[in-house]
Amino acid sequence: MNQKFIPLSVPNLKGNELKYVTHAIETEWVSSAGAYINEFEEKTARYVKSKGAVSCQNGTAGLHIALKVCGVTKDDEVIVPTLTFIAAVNPVKYIGAEPIFMDCDDSLTIDVEKLHTFCKNECEFIGGKLINKKSKKQIKAVLVVHVFGNMADMEGIIEIANEFNLQVVEDATEAIGTYYIKGKYKGRHAGTIGNIGVYSFNGNKIITTGGGGMIVSDDEELLRRAKHLTTQAKSDELYYTHDEIGYNYRMTNLQAALGIAQLEQLEDFIKIKEENYKLYKKEIRKIEGLSLLDFKDSIRSNYWFYALNCNNAYPLNRDEMIKYLLSKKIQVRPIWGLIHEQKPYLNNQAYKIEKAKRYLERIVNIPCSSNLTREDVLYVVECLKNAKQCICALGGGKAEC
Ligand SMILES: *Cc1c(COP(=O)(O)O)cnc(C)c1O
Repeated sequence: MNQKFIPLSVPNLKGNELKYVTHAIETEWVSSAGAYINEFEEKTARYVKSKGAVSCQNGTAGLHIALKVCGVTKDDEVIVPTLTFIAAVNPVKYIGAEPIFMDCDDSLTIDVEKLHTFCKNECEFIGGKLINKKSKKQIKAVLVVHVFGNMADMEGIIEIANEFNLQVVEDATEAIGTYYIKGKYKGRHAGTIGNIGVYSFNGNKIITTGGGGMIVSDDEELLRRAKHLTTQAKSDELYYTHDEIGYNYRMTNLQAALGIAQLEQLEDFIKIKEENYKLYKKEIRKIEGLSLLDFKDSIRSNYWFYALNCNNAYPLNRDEMIKYLLSKKIQVRPIWGLIHEQKPYLNNQAYKIEKAKRYLERIVNIPCSSNLTREDVLYVVECLKNAKQCICALGGGKAEC
């Protein structure tokens, strides 16, 4: 039998995408003005229950603007996680500010205890400003990432932010649809708890506009500033006067047409992803040395990415497993290389990074698309079970089993 290729995470475009995009083309509204853009902003805001939303070209652009409107300048520092995609951190540098890298906890999101210890022991809080003892610079914000659709500990983070006067920027690019079902923030969506949050609609995310992003906030002044900056900072529409340096970051009507169709299906996608996650979880539990990382039980997760944890009892290490699964036409990948170890960030401060290193060595992301069938999941599990028989073949430098 010729086994089909099972991709890691690909778009699912079987709803009204073609209809809405066709309408955008037929009406010849394809660029950065058009009714779909406003409609997509309104519908996203309504879905996540935020006061408003501002569309942008992608999540990276959204994070750039989010940091700017939160008041981060070239003289400041921003605390960021080291275990994340580099697009979460680069916007800090776009502004000319410097990141300080923080470890993760067992949920792979920022370690709140270390964050607190860092602010208490390594900084001074004077006149409402948190000053890094080492660099003497002000730390203006903490950027948290809701890794793989899990939720960072927002209760802990907001407490720390209040104690040390920090802005909280939520990189919720992977977590649209994730919300608290318990605790202080019950009902609140990822991205809407800090000062400002950002979603991504890149092709590998749970819903896609090809490329796209959305800024959300309950602070109307931040939203107004974000809209201003993403649309070239025009202070007069007719006469083209500009009061500061703006950006051409607004989403196009074509992207938004796709986005509306995708948003209509988001809850269905989450259902499929949850079912597949639970099936994987149940089957993988039976394999010695393997487990799937949990999502927190205080949240309804969007189940975006599944993290397979592989310990010493499993016959293959991370790299062998990747090679083996790729030979079985299953697309998998390790988690991101830690950002504090990437060339552009080697000189930046990193605080007691321990768990991130350990998880990096052991975690592999396995197929999770909303197109994934039950049969696909069972095939992946079957291959994981049979890995033992492949060790010799892999030892010979060949990944054929
Ligand atoms: C995808 C992603 C981004 C960037 O979003 P784009 O829309 O691709 O620019 C930023 N941070 C994290 C954690 C992401 O996963």
